[in-house]
Amino acid sequence: MATSTENISLANDTLARRRQQNSTTLMRRQQEVFAIVPEIEEIGYEITSVGAKYTMAKLTKNADKAEELKAEMEALSKKQKDLLVQNGFAADYLEPVYHCSECQDKGFVNGKICTCLKQEIIKQRQNMLTALSPAPKTTFESFSLDYYSDKPDANGVVARDRMASIFRYCKDFAENFSKDVKSLFMYGASGLGKTHLSCAIAGECLKKGFVVMYASSQSLFEQIEQNKHNVYHILNDIMNCDLFILDDLGTEYLTYYGQSILYNIINTRMINGSPCIYTSNLTSDKDLQKKYGEKIASRLMGNCQRLYFYGSDIRPKL
Ligand SMILES: [Zn+2]
Repeated sequence: MATSTENISLANDTLARRRQQNSTTLMRRQQEVFAIVPEIEEIGYEITSVGAKYTMAKLTKNADKAEELKAEMEALSKKQKDLLVQNGFAADYLEPVYHCSECQDKGFVNGKICTCLKQEIIKQRQNMLTALSPAPKTTFESFSLDYYSDKPDANGVVARDRMASIFRYCKDFAENFSKDVKSLFMYGASGLGKTHLSCAIAGECLKKGFVVMYASSQSLFEQIEQNKHNVYHILNDIMNCDLFILDDLGTEYLTYYGQSILYNIINTRMINGSPCIYTSNLTSDKDLQKKYGEKIASRLMGNCQRLYFYGSDIRPKL
């Protein structure tokens, strides 16, 4: 995956900051523990001293001695852990602290880029796109059905029931997410929770280590128009992420150029079988065709699982 150097260096800075924080945390913990249980620090010195002897025994090929010293180190280490637990600390309280245990915050595992660094690069790119990363409050837990009417409307439809079924669908989608699930097209009037649920899905997928990109349609196409020289990088990320969310289709100002880019995104991800979530306030095929033309409209409507959000704007009640 081609990446612009600026974003890689920002992502590396983040990892370097994490490594710095890790060692600060560990030092702070040591000071805390040693002040309460000085014996743990003494055992630490003993382990270092036995460790040096062990290295010598290994170097002089004195296998028996090495074994003996190794056992001694293990016993000391166990004693240290026992003391920690007896004094109310976790047994691993003085182990190195990592944000990512896979790569120990180095960013690479066996020469391959780690998911944490990949996500950090995407995050930097998202900042560049001024596309907000899913807000922490927009989770499944914070989604409430209470805001939807439980009374049948003129057509006999109960908005709350409809939304309950959409909510379940989205939760299942997030729980069973894989790189080849069917795309979603969430549509319906403003203020019915489309952004909330798409961000909730994004949050779950991010937690599982998938690379997710979120962009509001308006800001994405503004960025694309302003950065025509850099569109390759923007598109490359969109094409290669595991899940791409394009929020609020229909609100953007689309030039002919923007329209061809949009077609490209939708079509390429469709051909690659890569999942997307599109949300839109355009509620009919006719409106979609009018705004985007037949080719884009048919791909959006025909190749995605459609979820129609029903009810009246819930936002004023929030
Ligand atoms: Zn990592």
